[in-house]
Amino acid sequence: MPKQPSGDFPFPADADRMHRFDPEMTGLILEYVAERLAMHETSVDGLGDRRHLEQAVAGLIGDEPREASAVLDIYVNHLANTILSADSPRYHAFIPAAPTKASLLFDMVVSAASLQGCSWLEAAGAVIAENQALRVMSDLAGLPASAGGVFVSGGSAGNLSALVVARDTARRARIQSGLPEVRMRVVVSDQAHSSIKNALNITGMDALIVPTLDGRLEGGVLRETLSDDADLSDVVAVVATAGTTNAGIIDDLAAAAAVAAEHGWWFHVDGAYGGAGMLSRHLRDRYAGVERADSLVMDPHKWWFAPFDSAALIYRDPRLAKAVHTQDASYLDVIHEDDEDFNPSDLAYHLTRRARGMALWFSMAVNGLDAYRDAVDHSLALARYAAARIDEDPDLHLIREPDLSVVLFRRVGWLHADYEAWGQRLLHEQTAFVTHSAWRGETVGRLVFLHPATTTEMVDEVLATLG
Ligand SMILES: *Cc1c(COP(=O)(O)O)cnc(C)c1O
Repeated sequence: MPKQPSGDFPFPADADRMHRFDPEMTGLILEYVAERLAMHETSVDGLGDRRHLEQAVAGLIGDEPREASAVLDIYVNHLANTILSADSPRYHAFIPAAPTKASLLFDMVVSAASLQGCSWLEAAGAVIAENQALRVMSDLAGLPASAGGVFVSGGSAGNLSALVVARDTARRARIQSGLPEVRMRVVVSDQAHSSIKNALNITGMDALIVPTLDGRLEGGVLRETLSDDADLSDVVAVVATAGTTNAGIIDDLAAAAAVAAEHGWWFHVDGAYGGAGMLSRHLRDRYAGVERADSLVMDPHKWWFAPFDSAALIYRDPRLAKAVHTQDASYLDVIHEDDEDFNPSDLAYHLTRRARGMALWFSMAVNGLDAYRDAVDHSLALARYAAARIDEDPDLHLIREPDLSVVLFRRVGWLHADYEAWGQRLLHEQTAFVTHSAWRGETVGRLVFLHPATTTEMVDEVLATLG
């Protein structure tokens, strides 16, 4: 027994009370998890009433303990069903999720084992595993063997961390050449994801916007826009999107890469959603040029079938990222001693991090990459199926042939409010979750396919509601 210290901080009577193993609570939670995992098709759910929800949780957290079963009941009966199931095969809005069972299970291991994926010192085994998964993604993109990266919380975090490296690498080069500090610019298309704009705001850079005709960054327009610009000396990077979120369009990556190389600019590819399309046996050519990226983002929590939250951020030369992102603190020196290895914490703006690549790693190994290729092809096939049905329906108009798994369409005669009412009706009936979008200023319908359990019958069901 330790000695009782004097003063105001007596040893607690039961230091173990929050940390003891409770077989009953464990059983409850695992049973719930097993039930959820056993569902072939999760229901769409969603639509919570704020007042009702506030009542459901009112006073729940107090000074005294509560029964785990009672709290879990509140979650199951009042909260869970008001959370849209992004992993429902009927979820066609935004970008859906479809984590594999293996990835979900292993995510629980990551939690239960408190894996802190910060550095080699703390988590060598986790870093090796995550790097193995990153290697698969990096090889798919055709990046060199020296490429490396880290899993961050999302595409937004990945884009931001990459653009910080682009900025500071350019800044260092400017200083070395005796050039003055300037506010820098980054070339982006008008279809770049909102997180890019956000990252530019945060990093104090401006966008040099290249207009798109059909939603795609094209080499010709890119070069024209640049030649119309009076002074490009403040430009430091080009961002291209490999799969725009709104329409699933892959930019002309080869042209963007060439332009970046000619000017000595950083080339960043945002493949948060669409990068996984490279897994398809039929689409790889569309990504020509991605192998020249200085940095690339792909979200496992989107089309790589992993749980939230996870984005792979890969650098052609991780040393540049390390030079920018390594946090300097004397108590951290011990984790930086081995200069050969890249600590995950040194490659983005974070320090402590969940080893969030492990779920993907486990699933890749357990399922094999052919299963991933097939799952991506299934989404592509569904999008083409939906596009063909839309194309043959006189009431519907296909906006463009889908490159990836997003389908945009117009319902002839519908206005904004009609699309809105349509989405609400489908959600109310639990037929599907769909949201409208915009195309060249016009409200349009948008369907995204990602889940391997989505069937053509489900697609027909949705399209039948457009009559
Ligand atoms: C989803 C998406 C992002 C943002 O990713 P988060 O994981 O939501 O932060 C960035 N770019 C593109 C192209 C996306 O589709």
